[in-house]
Amino acid sequence: MEDRRDMLMSMFSAKGAKIDTNKGDEYYNKLLKNMNDRLDMLENSDVASKTSITQVLDAQGLTRRDFMKWASAACAMLMLPPTFTPTILRAAELMNRVPVIWIELQDCAGNSEAILRSDAPTIDELILDVLSLEFNETIMVAAGHQAEEHLHEAMEHFKGKYLCVVEGAIPLKMDGYYGTIGAKAQTFKDHLLEVAGNSAAVVAVGTCATFGGVPAASPNPTGAVGVQDVVKNKPIINIPACPANPANITGTILHYVLTGQIPELDHLNRPKFAFGYRIHDNCERRAHFDAGEYVEEWGDEGAKNNFCLYKMGCKGPMTFNNCSIVRYNEAVNWPIGAGHGCIGCSEPQFWDKYATERPMADSRIKAPTGGVEKSVDEFGLGLLTATGIGIGIHAAISATAGKKEEEK
Ligand code: SF4
Ligand code: SF4
Repeated sequence: MEDRRDMLMSMFSAKGAKIDTNKGDEYYNKLLKNMNDRLDMLENSDVASKTSITQVLDAQGLTRRDFMKWASAACAMLMLPPTFTPTILRAAELMNRVPVIWIELQDCAGNSEAILRSDAPTIDELILDVLSLEFNETIMVAAGHQAEEHLHEAMEHFKGKYLCVVEGAIPLKMDGYYGTIGAKAQTFKDHLLEVAGNSAAVVAVGTCATFGGVPAASPNPTGAVGVQDVVKNKPIINIPACPANPANITGTILHYVLTGQIPELDHLNRPKFAFGYRIHDNCERRAHFDAGEYVEEWGDEGAKNNFCLYKMGCKGPMTFNNCSIVRYNEAVNWPIGAGHGCIGCSEPQFWDKYATERPMADSRIKAPTGGVEKSVDEFGLGLLTATGIGIGIHAAISATAGKKEEEK
């Protein structure tokens, strides 16, 4: 795990990274003091959940040393200096002070499943056991009126203090009656507005909740949209991907515990610590991209040698996410490592725009810091020089090939 921390730090501070990773001693000293003041305050507040991280780790046979290693990597992921590691540990121990209400809307529960169905849960996944999950339809025992009653009690008791985590899109067509809940057939939209309205902040988890995801794919029969299209009066943090990486969910909640604030966001409301980099920036196949070595068809020599998947439709060059750094399942592997290109699942409209096994010639993308939309070629030229030219050439080749196919 120390290796993982080193890897994370070197990648976050790599040449070309678009986030300032060293803000100076004065900044960090002040930040550390503010964080410790906040944790002192939380320590003296009510325990919202009786489960402690120590109990959870013991039950899984994990040691304090494992916990320390996790905190060190979490510290790097949040782009904090190593001296913040004890503070991260303390914050994780105080996560049971933060009440969370987790609602399911138009989705497959894939984000919950990704967290819950692990044979060997990572500490990121176990942290969620420590949170005071006041309401979660997927895992709670209560159902029907009993569940609704508990939801309303929790909203009242923790009014203005809880985090509202949302999984799933919101159907708006037919006055929202494609999705209803409870005896009064409350629409998903009204259910969301009620729960979000009493929260401190809203965390939209997964691409359905952030941008509409698969339910919003053309022709979008239910008029599905993301949380930010409905909730207008609360801070919203988007953690897209299909599913969202548990490390990014934990990192966001950890940031809230540490600071009482939402993390710095990009123009799509995604935390910059997780979505400030393109998949392509840190991809293990990048050297093959630069060398012009590509998989040309599934199962060929290039595939056997782990060559770049750009020609097989990899959308890593236009997708912002940290999968290539954090990976999945305790950094064991990730989609490109397993042999398939990125399908841009953390970007808006990914199903219509990116989920094909062909390269794109005309994608318009924005830098995470905002700014003007550019094509892949222009964007690549601005940020990647030679690499951008590479993308442009291959995009042009694919466009020409596409035209030839059409002419045929
Ligand atoms: S195009 Fe895809 S596979 Fe190739 S280097 Fe970029 S992210 Fe990796
Ligand atoms: S590699 Fe791309 S498609 Fe796969 S999980 Fe990451 S962002 Fe989504």
